[in-house]
Amino acid sequence: MNMEDIFSQFGDIFGDDIFGNFFGGQRTRGGQRVRGVRGSNLRIKLKLSYEEIAKGVTKHIKVKKYVPCQTCHGSGAKDKGSVQTCGTCGGSGQVRRVTNTFLGQMQTVTTCPTCNGEGTVITAKCTTCKGEGRVYAEETVSIEVPAGVLEGMQLNISGRGNAGERGGPPGDLIILIEEETHKELQRDGLNVVYDLHISFTDAVFGTQIEVPTIDGRAKIKIPAGTQSGKIFRLKGKGFPGVNSYEKGDQLVHVNVWTPQHITSEEKAMLDKLSHSQNFKPHPDKNEKSFFDKMREMFS
Ligand SMILES: [Zn+2]
Ligand SMILES: [Zn+2]
Repeated sequence: MNMEDIFSQFGDIFGDDIFGNFFGGQRTRGGQRVRGVRGSNLRIKLKLSYEEIAKGVTKHIKVKKYVPCQTCHGSGAKDKGSVQTCGTCGGSGQVRRVTNTFLGQMQTVTTCPTCNGEGTVITAKCTTCKGEGRVYAEETVSIEVPAGVLEGMQLNISGRGNAGERGGPPGDLIILIEEETHKELQRDGLNVVYDLHISFTDAVFGTQIEVPTIDGRAKIKIPAGTQSGKIFRLKGKGFPGVNSYEKGDQLVHVNVWTPQHITSEEKAMLDKLSHSQNFKPHPDKNEKSFFDKMREMFS
C-alpha cells in the first residue's frame, strides 16, 4: 500500500463486476494467454477511533472472501491430466475469423470462445472447488492505516480482494474509513474542538484545568477574568495531515456556567454584588467579535 492508493476510487467508478470482467479471462495482454478470471474487488468498512486516526494503526480483521483452492492450487482441475490444450484454438487462446465484406476478405483475431483465451480446457473438475479454483473462506488481513485518514476515505490494498477463478489474478481489497464519534471531542478537518464549561468563580479567579486531547489529557491555564466564548488554541494537538507534514490544533471553547438554582443565602450575596460597578458588562472594544472568532476557529 502506498500513498497514491489512498485516493484510488476505481471500485466506485467501474463497479466491482465490470471491473472483474474487464481484466478477466477475456482479455489478452499483448497477445499472451491469460489464466482464469480476475477476482472481484472486496469492499469493507473499517471503524476507527480518533486516537487510532491520530497515530495511525495496524488493524487485523477477519474477512470472508474467495481464496485459492488448496486441493488444485487454483487450477480448478482434478489432476494434471485433466488440463488439456484447447482443441478450438490449439492453445493460442485466439481464433482467426475470415469474413467477406464488399471491400474483400477481412481477417479478425478474437479470443477463443471455447477456452476464453486461456488456451486450455479442463476435462475433469476438482471436487473441492467444483472447478472454480477457489473456495469461500475466512482470512485475517492486516491493514496498515496511515495517520490522519478521514471519514469516507478509501484505502486500496492491491491483490488482497477475492481470489480469481482458475488461477486468475486476485481483486483488490478496498477499505472504507469510518470515524467513531468521540464522547468529548469533535473533529473539524485537522483541528479538534473541545467545549469546556467552567464555573463563574473559576472564570473570575482563574484556574488550572485538565482537558481531554486525542493524545491523553493536557493541562491548560485559565487566566483570571476569562470571558465566556474565549477560544484557547493548543498548538499541534490536532490531527496530522494524511499525506503532508501539516498538523492541526486543538481549540478549547470556554463556556462560563451560569448557576440556575441558588439558595437564599447565595441570592443575598449576589444581590449585594449586583450593584457593584465591576459586575456590569463592559466589553472590550478590542476583543474579537464572535464572528471573527468563529472564522479563526474554522480556518
Ligand atoms: Zn480445487
Ligand atoms: Zn481455445
